[in-house]
Amino acid sequence: MIDTRILEITAELAKADNIVIVPHKGPDGDAMGSSLGLLHFLTDKGHHAQVIAPNDYPHFLKWLPGSEEVIIYENDKEKADQLISEAQIVFTLDFNNLSRCGSMQDSLLASDAVFVMIDHHQEPSDYAHYTYSDATMSSTCEMVYKFIDKLRASKKITPEIATCLYTGIMTDTGSFRFSSTSSETHRVIANLIDKGAENALIHNSIFDTNSENKLQLLGTALQNLKVNKELRTAYISLSQEELDRHNFKKGDTEGFVNYGLSLDGIIFAVIFIEKENEDLVKISFRSKGDFDVNKFARAHFEGGGHINAAGGKSNISLNDTIVKFNEILPQYSEQLKR
Ligand code: 5GP
Ligand code: MN
Repeated sequence: MIDTRILEITAELAKADNIVIVPHKGPDGDAMGSSLGLLHFLTDKGHHAQVIAPNDYPHFLKWLPGSEEVIIYENDKEKADQLISEAQIVFTLDFNNLSRCGSMQDSLLASDAVFVMIDHHQEPSDYAHYTYSDATMSSTCEMVYKFIDKLRASKKITPEIATCLYTGIMTDTGSFRFSSTSSETHRVIANLIDKGAENALIHNSIFDTNSENKLQLLGTALQNLKVNKELRTAYISLSQEELDRHNFKKGDTEGFVNYGLSLDGIIFAVIFIEKENEDLVKISFRSKGDFDVNKFARAHFEGGGHINAAGGKSNISLNDTIVKFNEILPQYSEQLKR
């Protein structure tokens, strides 16, 4: 739909002085990469643009160009509310429902800005005036590249923009491994390298900056791995005590769930992480092939996402959550058994 309305968006942009860009709560590489990539693009065009993240994001993303200018809503609510109320356009990136912004949602609902959603999750809700939603896309970063292209502005892609967009495509595709990676994704990546994204440097900045604590926490997670061969499922749990023991920092558990999927024959992998201060268990689901973890997360754990990557939560204890999970699993035996 964005194709037919791109002229309208161009006109809205021409009128807009103040623009706010919002990634989802618990921002990941794609959410921050797309937000910062768009930030540089809009700032270079002369707008007053500001990224406001609902909450803080992992240390391994803080090197992204423009990161130092990001406002964290939870830490700077007054200033953020002011900026949101003054914005003529709000871009919401990498999510499909305002509830994914946590406590920032109320402030966004009160805004009379024009909302533009750019997102690749299934089943978008319709809060935005302009919805650019495409669940076949590898990442929101790939969509921001296409959005800039549709605005006929790809010549304006600087090395900073290219670096941000490359990063999000890389993290959301598991370094170009997942089936969401298309030949077009690779063409976009090639263009971003031509525009100045330094691929080796980006991979190093994301993947080779681990702390000892993080690697030791991974060791504990792998010790806790449980495998159900018959149902081709593997899951990992981490208790608050285990997180504390390894001085857990935001982002330290990123990617752990994928170790379950790396087991021969496993098509469904899960990680349960106890968050005592939020009084919940955060769950990540990953799958290979047709097993739809978006549906699974929606049906049983108040979550959602994509067919092969989704998240959810549980308000009962860690142990009870795992018991509940193991009780639900046999309902899916037809799909999970070989
Ligand atoms: P992760 O497991 O890395 O937190 O999330 C995997 C995917 O599922 C991401 O695309 C994320 O946006 C989505 N996701 C994670 N948690 C939730 C949730 O609670 N609700 C919904 N709708 N999507 C989620
Ligand atoms: Mn994404």
